[in-house]
Amino acid sequence: MSWGWCVLGRHWAMVVFIGPVESDGMQAPVHACEGCCAYMRNFVRNYNRHRDRQPA
Ligand SMILES: [Zn+2]
Repeated sequence: MSWGWCVLGRHWAMVVFIGPVESDGMQAPVHACEGCCAYMRNFVRNYNRHRDRQPA
């Protein structure tokens, strides 16, 4: 954890690197704080839960 810009919450916080993001062929590192990471984990879990219900 280090002090930086939380891209998910758009605020300064203690953040961790969550991965690169690509736009217009350029890449930038994305960092997010614990609260926003928790939100993202929840988002991913919900997304996959919905997808599981759909017929293959
Ligand atoms: Zn945040």
